[in-house]
Amino acid sequence: MSSGRDHDKITCYYSLPFAILCAFGIGWKGFIVGGGTFLIGGLLFSPDLDIKSYPSRRWGLLSIIWRPYCYFLSHRSLLSHSPLLGTAGRVTYIIGLYFSIHILIWLLFSNVINVNVSVVINNFTNNYELLSCALVSIEISAWLHLLQDS
Ligand SMILES: [Zn+2]
Repeated sequence: MSSGRDHDKITCYYSLPFAILCAFGIGWKGFIVGGGTFLIGGLLFSPDLDIKSYPSRRWGLLSIIWRPYCYFLSHRSLLSHSPLLGTAGRVTYIIGLYFSIHILIWLLFSNVINVNVSVVINNFTNNYELLSCALVSIEISAWLHLLQDS
């Protein structure tokens, strides 16, 4: 079983080789997106968001958005510490929250500011290659975490 610092060290250590691997696949954008989301996955979207941990503290004031996740999931539950399901849950949770806030802003201020929800959705889905790279990178960083936990 690893400590939070061990998780962080391993995440940082493997981010560069993983970024290089992504660069071989899809070029310099893959290097940046793959390496960056690998780091983000390990340091911010860690399975340990189900407890008060380094990743949850890194969110600062925004850590409040992870309180329901922390409250409803027990530490190392199937929904936080399992391959695919854990990352899918965290990514779905944060994207759902993002769009909920975006839609709320649109509903409240649509006559004041011009917020086009479809443009935001298109920005997320137009580049499948980089989006896939980002999701795989977050998942691989979670697997690294799960391997250390076992
Ligand atoms: Zn863990």
